[in-house]
Amino acid sequence: MRFTKIKAAVAVAGLALSLTACGGDDGGGSDTEVASDTDFESGTTMADIAERGTVTIGTKFDQPGFGLKNLEGDPEGFDVEVGKIIAGALGIAEDDIEWKETPSDVREQVIEDGEVDFVVATYTINDERKERISFAGPYYEAGQMLMVMSDNDAITAPEDLKANPDAKVCSVTGSTPGENIKQYLASEDQLVLFDVYDKCADALSNGQVDVVTTDNVILAGFVGESDGEFKLVGDQFTEEPYGIGITKGDTDFCEFINDTLADNEDAYTTAWEETAGQVEGTETPTLPEPDPCA
Ligand code: GLU
Repeated sequence: MRFTKIKAAVAVAGLALSLTACGGDDGGGSDTEVASDTDFESGTTMADIAERGTVTIGTKFDQPGFGLKNLEGDPEGFDVEVGKIIAGALGIAEDDIEWKETPSDVREQVIEDGEVDFVVATYTINDERKERISFAGPYYEAGQMLMVMSDNDAITAPEDLKANPDAKVCSVTGSTPGENIKQYLASEDQLVLFDVYDKCADALSNGQVDVVTTDNVILAGFVGESDGEFKLVGDQFTEEPYGIGITKGDTDFCEFINDTLADNEDAYTTAWEETAGQVEGTETPTLPEPDPCA
């Protein structure tokens, strides 16, 4: 399925931190309101971004429902909408957001190098990543699953992979599922790693691999687009809490993002319903309690 784009009509909000995402008229996104009277303490990331008047956000460009570049060249999806909610609270309109594609393996690097202001990209919070960056959130709880061709009945759970040592499993470099799946394989020769997930979906479709593994909601997006060619199998077998990646130790920005999401739960729900929520079988989440910012 494709998510159609709405050109944002920027409405000027009266309050800096109380934003509402209004439903779009073609069901393909939201018109996020933009704060007009922001007043951030000088020296903070929020003040820097507001002063600059633009923000650079890292996201995925190949993941239906979360971050997928449309034919006009603009990314669409739940992560994109979450990025717009945060940008709006900083006083940045949609047209002043620069989207940078951030495949799984480059996310920490682009934050460390200052190439982006933050990353919203199906990005699991974990301790290893926290050695290099910090996370706001979580804003969503996903979990790893398997996707196979609809006519494949041999593989129904990760435990079946050792019993089928010729089966190839695809994931992406620098992802948690790509690491975690190794314990279920007869040998690492079974693992095929690309940089982005749509290459795995193509490889599954043309028979180069037998299984794609990553988070359930990413796979659900590919199943939804596949016209019955792919299916999800088994249960989720990890927990993948999604965070917003920011510069390590930027506690003020972390708290600002967490407060913004908490203050905009309606916009969060609308964002879900108009993007990832359109994929069959997905459930509208409630915003999780944020982790303490550190
Ligand atoms: N959430 C997992 C991760 O952050 C998998 C999805 C992805 O690669 O973006 O690694």
